[in-house]
Amino acid sequence: MRLRIQQVNVPLRYDDSLVIREISRKLGCLPSLLASVKIIRRSLDTRPRHPEPLYALLVEATLNLPKLPIGAPRAGIELLPDAEPPPAARPTVTRRDEPRPIVVGAGPAGLMAAYGLALAGARPILIERGEDAESRSPKAARFWNDGILDPESNVLYGEGGAGLFSDGKLTARSKERNRVLEFMELLHACGADDSVLIDSEPHVGSDALLRIVPRLRRRIEEAGGEVRFRSRLESLIIEAGRLRAVIVNGQEIACNRCVLAVGHSARDVYDSLAAAGVALTAKPFAVGVRLELPQAAIDHALYGKWAGNPLLGAAGFRLTRREEPGIRACYSFCMCPGGKVIACASEPGFLTTNGMSYSRRLLNRGNAAFLVPVTAADYPEHPTPALAGVAFQRELERLAFDAAGGGYALPAVRLVDFLAGRISQALPEDGSCSRAVPADLRLILPECVIYTLEKSIPPMLRELNGAPLEEAVLYAPETRSSSPLRIERDDGGESISTRGLYPAGEGAGYAGGIVSSAIDGMRAAEQVLKSL
Ligand SMILES: Cc1cc2nc3c(=O)[nH]c(=O)nc-3n(C[C@H](O)[C@H](O)[C@H](O)COP(=O)(O)OP(=O)(O)OC[C@H]3O[C@@H](n4cnc5c(N)ncnc54)[C@H](O)[C@@H]3O)c2cc1C
Repeated sequence: MRLRIQQVNVPLRYDDSLVIREISRKLGCLPSLLASVKIIRRSLDTRPRHPEPLYALLVEATLNLPKLPIGAPRAGIELLPDAEPPPAARPTVTRRDEPRPIVVGAGPAGLMAAYGLALAGARPILIERGEDAESRSPKAARFWNDGILDPESNVLYGEGGAGLFSDGKLTARSKERNRVLEFMELLHACGADDSVLIDSEPHVGSDALLRIVPRLRRRIEEAGGEVRFRSRLESLIIEAGRLRAVIVNGQEIACNRCVLAVGHSARDVYDSLAAAGVALTAKPFAVGVRLELPQAAIDHALYGKWAGNPLLGAAGFRLTRREEPGIRACYSFCMCPGGKVIACASEPGFLTTNGMSYSRRLLNRGNAAFLVPVTAADYPEHPTPALAGVAFQRELERLAFDAAGGGYALPAVRLVDFLAGRISQALPEDGSCSRAVPADLRLILPECVIYTLEKSIPPMLRELNGAPLEEAVLYAPETRSSSPLRIERDDGGESISTRGLYPAGEGAGYAGGIVSSAIDGMRAAEQVLKSL
């Protein structure tokens, strides 16, 4: 019989034999009766009531018995069908009379769309304005250390997309478990650690992504796809509401199926879509700051007496505060434990911030965005209403660039100075950001956002018992946590105004984060394949 068993508790250092022993103890049977055991999910349990921190495992096991042993608990044990259902057959494309599908953007969405199309034999062409992952790294380092920006290949543009220099958190809220699993298995096959297959909150880190992403690209090429770097989509040629061609680096390429996965930093693409009459709608988003604290304080707050245990890794937090009269909601987002605060830019003269970490998350600071929702009522009207949020983001980013002296250093302030309404005399010397300068964040963020942050951050941090407020530093502005608009599409994934155009990923406004963008790309590939 096959069983799914919850809450198999094991210490942080465990092996297969310990898992088998714990299952047999739980079921009240001999270990030799367990024919197979597979860990499906692993969650950390650091509640102080246990004598030591634990992993709570969800396992699937095959038991050489016709029924459960007498006395085995019924709660948390589910009987599974005898055999796993066979995987669904992949569609294959045999028609060769159609132009090759084009995927624009080699972020998580575009890579997975191109991979899905290539596996089905559709021979996609993946075009990416930036460089390959390896060439991007020195560009990013030059930007962080010396303030030299390559507007086409940078922290946000290039192979791996915005997710390459990131924490690589693989948060999966999607209910599409099969697609999530397929994505995780592919990352694993490309070199990600075993933990991505089982951890409830997996993370890979930038150093690992730099190895994984090029391997994924090679798989696309081996399956018949073609990847072109330094290739920028300039415009679409649309006739009678149908895509006919794309212009890439000044050259026209015939195309009647294009997955547009350009992320939400590609504002020039939004402009060109608006000019071409593609249906776009503004959507609410959020802006704010990135807050940094000593990681030891975060570990202490979350792990309590277990803090300092090297097997636990750096702790992350999630904090939220509900809206109150006169104060908006505020929430923490995209925590990077043991990571760095980084500057990001994709256009000269504009600056935003975010966070990244390496696989082992060993740096001595942790950071997270603290965001406040904004809507169209917060920013000036725009001749193209769908682009009003983009114009608002750009204005905050321009102000940030100016406030920090125009060299791509990040504007920053100690929390205590921010609350007292003054500019910091100096920033902590052991801060993680390569280049930050004391600045007045009131010159960057709108008053409603500043007011909410002032009222919300102290009580939110107090939830982290013992977090030293005087050591917290704020960096601004966080502007690109999600897309400010949506490229409207129908249930078949096609733009409602332009047949043959399949907007996908975060820039389309239907996904956010690495996993959900990747899954959206997989879905786009399936939708293109259906149309072929
Ligand atoms: C610093 C940072 C840290 C992050 N950390 C995390 C994290 O830990 N976990 C998480 O889930 N999410 C994280 N995110 C968010 C995550 O990276 C994005 O949600 C995700 O990358 C979106 O995927 P995408 O493929 O839709 O778009 P993108 O990743 O933005 O990729 C779009 C690609 O399109 C290319 N492109 C744009 N315009 C054109 C054009 N005209 N022609 C050709 N190519 C073009 C770009 O160069 C880019 O490579 C982070 C983001 C940043 C910036």
